[in-house]
Amino acid sequence: MHGSADLRALPSVDQMLNSPAVAVLVEKHGRRAVTADLRAALSDIRAEVKAGGAVPRPEDLLASLISRVEYRGRTNLRPLFNLTGTVLHTNLGRALLAEEAIAAAMDAMRDAAALEFDLDTGRRGERDSHLRTLLCELTGAEDATVVNNNAGAVLICLNTIGAGRQAIVSRGELIEIGGAFRMPDIMERAGVQLIEVGTTNRTHPKDYAKVIGPDTGLILKVHTSNYRIEGFTAEVDGSQLAKIAHDAGIALLNDLGSGTLVDLASYGLAREPTVREAVAEGADLVTFSGDKLLGGPQAGFIVGRRELIAEINRNPLKRALRVDKIRIAALEATLKLYRDPDRLAARLPTLRLLTRKQSEIMAQAERLQPKVTSMLRSRGYDVDICGCLSQIGSGALPVDTIPSAALRIAASSGTALEELAALFRTLPRPIIGRIQSGCMLLDLRCLADEQSFLESLAEGTGHAMA
Ligand SMILES: *Cc1c(COP(=O)(O)O)cnc(C)c1O
Repeated sequence: MHGSADLRALPSVDQMLNSPAVAVLVEKHGRRAVTADLRAALSDIRAEVKAGGAVPRPEDLLASLISRVEYRGRTNLRPLFNLTGTVLHTNLGRALLAEEAIAAAMDAMRDAAALEFDLDTGRRGERDSHLRTLLCELTGAEDATVVNNNAGAVLICLNTIGAGRQAIVSRGELIEIGGAFRMPDIMERAGVQLIEVGTTNRTHPKDYAKVIGPDTGLILKVHTSNYRIEGFTAEVDGSQLAKIAHDAGIALLNDLGSGTLVDLASYGLAREPTVREAVAEGADLVTFSGDKLLGGPQAGFIVGRRELIAEINRNPLKRALRVDKIRIAALEATLKLYRDPDRLAARLPTLRLLTRKQSEIMAQAERLQPKVTSMLRSRGYDVDICGCLSQIGSGALPVDTIPSAALRIAASSGTALEELAALFRTLPRPIIGRIQSGCMLLDLRCLADEQSFLESLAEGTGHAMA
């Protein structure tokens, strides 16, 4: 048992505040924040001592308190190196924005903007007008609107055109996207009755036609983003579905998920249906994300027939799902880049990263391998180079991978590998790799700034940088 004498040996918050090292923290974070953090840290240590721990030596105590205060003071949402090999990683924030979009967002943040103000007439304007013309030009649609994300886009479309009625969906398309986005649940919340047709692997035109009746509000087509059904399969394509829907006088909603505005095949990637194609096939409404393949900030785009878009804009949910001026500015700047396809891959980070050549990434691995080896060898890790496969992520082209190159770090044990992953996560700029076949792979496809990667690693491993 440790007595109260041990606890009394701990300094008070006031004593700590008077130490020069803490003064530096006060200068950085403010007196009130540091006092609160010191109090919390001291109370943790008191609890540890009460539970039988030794009272730390004064110099260790100070170091430990300072590191706890620093830890609480740093930003959790701080930049990191996404070396997972998944370019659009939902948990790591999806698309990186183009410099043009970042600049536009910063301007919108700093100053007032004509968000809902028509500079030509001086009257009240519309929030969506900034994007509508661009979206129509890039997709061939009559009209367009934008909401918070694609899940919101699907929700408001279903609710607007299908509430109180039935929506027909193929059993092969009743997806769960992750993060609790399940198509049947969204339909329920939208007030739409789900009518499933066909089977998991095969759905035919007659399956849809058979169930259409007076209560049918729409046909929903969903891009099976994160899985693929292979083998003995049949699905009804968009133009056939449009014909079935229009013959019955109902609407076709096509949720493209990622959606792309360009033909990815022309960039050497696997083909994805473009939004323009979905519109041309005859879908009445098409929904897609802003921060997947499109490469912008989080948003949900809805393009399609004018009267349906007008109805969506009148739905009270639109107000609940609206997008702020910062994102509209970034979206507008991102969409503008698509007007210049020749320079798109150079300016849009998502496309730039997806189209990096394996040979270039391999050369990067060869430059980095000796330096990373010298930092990790003394800790018992071996670093070599290997070819690997990157993924697009965010449900785009789930099966199509892109050849890439990685630093492969081997450890003496699974525990040692986990320790390394934990160390990488604590870096000022964390490094996130992936564990594969008992090694950590750092896929270098998304590594742009080699220098700061090496500096971050050097700091974490206690190596001085040359
Ligand atoms: C990703 C995805 C969604 C959800 O989009 P968010 O932008 O993440 O809200 C909806 N439908 C499909 C088919 C998707 O792939």
